[in-house]
Amino acid sequence: MSGAILVLSGPSGAGKSTIIQAAAPEIGEYYFSISTTTRKPRSGELNGVDYNFVSVEEFEEGIKAGDFLEYARVHDNYYGTSMKPVREALERGLLVIFDIDVQGHRLIRAKLNDITTSAFITPPTLFELEKRLKSRCSDDLTVIEKRLRNAKEEIMAVGEYDFTIINDDVEQASKEFTIIAKAARLKHSREDEETFVRNWLAKS
Ligand code: ADP
Ligand code: 5GP
Repeated sequence: MSGAILVLSGPSGAGKSTIIQAAAPEIGEYYFSISTTTRKPRSGELNGVDYNFVSVEEFEEGIKAGDFLEYARVHDNYYGTSMKPVREALERGLLVIFDIDVQGHRLIRAKLNDITTSAFITPPTLFELEKRLKSRCSDDLTVIEKRLRNAKEEIMAVGEYDFTIINDDVEQASKEFTIIAKAARLKHSREDEETFVRNWLAKS
């Protein structure tokens, strides 16, 4: 059987990275899709680990070459998912986890709906999101304001997701994420299901 996809979205500062890290020991083998972005690295972020950091020119060449499974402009920067490593991970039967925005989720749904599960992560309130963005100390005030404006639009898409995780307490949120990740792994492509049915019938 081939792999499956778990899309995680939610406002910047919702706690997506924190939750993936907390749940990682519990969810078994997975491949985290490292996105490519034109955003500048935050302090502590590593090229090739957190993101592949590239120039606008490099990103636009990637678009022309058809390298991206999906890409979007978020907060005035490009963000995109490279096709090749995702395809390889799916072929190895792995669960592939994406941390992408609502536009990216729509594009993945359009292309790979049958193997996709999705969860929207959010702090309990907009006020709490603002507190967390400020306490992370990784962005200046103008950037934080832009992210908060974007968050007010993103939250409107919560109904497009299979699950919502309200990240009030990290431990509880990562338990919920673990359950969702384990279920996501069990989703099979239509092609795999058809092969299974053919074999099932043939062995009567
Ligand atoms: P994202 O990956 O969604 O942008 P982060 O995981 O970087 O968000 O989290 C944003 C900030 O909020 C970090 O400083 C993180 O330590 C903090 N944080 C995450 N979850 C919680 C929580 N449940 N309670 C309080 N602070 C949290
Ligand atoms: P940040 O700058 O906080 O790391 O990410 C900003 C937003 O971009 C987040 O909502 C994150 O989920 C989204 N994002 C990160 N990588 C990708 C990607 O490859 N594609 C899309 N569409 N969104 C992404």
